[in-house]
Amino acid sequence: KNANGNYTVTLIPGDGIGPEISESVVKIYKAAGVPIEWEPVSVTPVLKNGKVAIPDEALHSVKKNTVALKGPLATPVGKGHVSLNLTLRRTFNLYANVRPCKSVVGFKTPYDNVDTVLIRENTEGEYSGIEHEVVDGVVQSIKLITKDASDRCARYAFNYAKETGRNRVTAVHKANIMKLSDGLFLASCQEVAREFPEVKFDDLLLDRACLQIVQDPSIYADTVMVMPNLYGDILSDMSAGLIGGLGLTPSGNIGRDASIFEAVHGTAPDIAGQDKANPTALLFSSVLMLRHMNLNSFADQIEKATLKVIADGKVLTSDLGGRSTNTEFTNAIIAEL
Ligand code: NAD
Repeated sequence: KNANGNYTVTLIPGDGIGPEISESVVKIYKAAGVPIEWEPVSVTPVLKNGKVAIPDEALHSVKKNTVALKGPLATPVGKGHVSLNLTLRRTFNLYANVRPCKSVVGFKTPYDNVDTVLIRENTEGEYSGIEHEVVDGVVQSIKLITKDASDRCARYAFNYAKETGRNRVTAVHKANIMKLSDGLFLASCQEVAREFPEVKFDDLLLDRACLQIVQDPSIYADTVMVMPNLYGDILSDMSAGLIGGLGLTPSGNIGRDASIFEAVHGTAPDIAGQDKANPTALLFSSVLMLRHMNLNSFADQIEKATLKVIADGKVLTSDLGGRSTNTEFTNAIIAEL
């Protein structure tokens, strides 16, 4: 909290549609009277000692405030460019990625009963980046799993289950095949489960989870699924598909030194600068952020107003099948507030 009694939160507007959808969030927060003061920073890469890096000002701001809301960043394709998202993840030890996916009334998809929460270990597994060529034509990639990273991810999942009242955690793994690596992840979850006797615990093979989730997603409506990095990457996009794609899905990166909340979609260069973007995913990411900060009443109020506008179906952006602009959609949410 700052001297005015408000919370200061770092705002990284991002690239492409990022500034437009960030502006919507800022307007909606002002209308709702959320006690947050934004500290906008740019993460446009600078050269530091000959290497591409995130500007110090941005890093200091996130470190100081410990909470940030981030728009999408354009990742240049090609060698020599580090992914800025990966850099942020490493810099702030963002060890768990949380992705809730809930069916949105008024946006018709093949499923209307999705309510999943997935927590993905965010720092290791197949994404450790340890690969080498053994001999010509033979490469090896190391899947690294540590007890420390598994424990803190599992502990976050149990705390999340407890705080949100879901009261069940399901570890998703392939420990039947990867006995040591996934075995360690599963053992960590089992061990942490003993610290939370009030939260139920079970586990499930990844293939089974995929099969069941597309047959009947409601099976997972009362649990928090927790899993190693690669599985989480794939299964979370699959869950997003069940509710109609990435345009509505929020996410949070929970870290040791800070937590960064962001939409799952990219910079949408095809519609950038045209006032066509849908701000819902970033707005719902900010709702996760509000709950993370224990500002639950503001979170509920903003979420409810947004869902109402979508359910009414009168003012919708084109990705939701409507013809309204981002500005019109944002104003409709404000009117609903
Ligand atoms: P994208 O998500 O930007 O776009 C895919 C499609 O979805 C496009 O047709 C786009 O118009 C639409 N779309 C996305 N968000 C929307 C929104 N809020 N409202 C309405 N329509 C929306 O994916 P892409 O084209 O593969 O990637 C573009 C750039 O974004 C790349 O540089 C990529 O590296 C970057 N990216 C960044 C992040 C991130 O920062 N977290 C994530 C994914 C992609």
